[in-house]
Amino acid sequence: MTGWRSLAACAGQPGLFFGPGDTEQWRAHRRREARAKAVCAGCPVRQQCLGFAVASGERSGIWGGLGEDELRALQRGAWHSSAGGPRRRAA
Ligand code: SF4
Repeated sequence: MTGWRSLAACAGQPGLFFGPGDTEQWRAHRRREARAKAVCAGCPVRQQCLGFAVASGERSGIWGGLGEDELRALQRGAWHSSAGGPRRRAA
């Protein structure tokens, strides 16, 4: 593993960041997502990870501390956070 991925705090935890798909119940999904986001919060390459996910059009999994819905909204240019996350550019 090279580049920013070699510093990823999630290394070795793919099941936490990519769920089982349609078989995952909503509450289990929310719990898993919260645990994954907690790992992302302390990750030294969070911005690189999020930038990669947006640039490559990733649609599934947790990337850069964002869940799938948040990531899709960011890719559409519609995501806004008051918690210090990436923000939509002002027009
Ligand atoms: S920000 Fe989260 S998903 Fe991205 S590399 Fe870090 S821990 Fe993994």
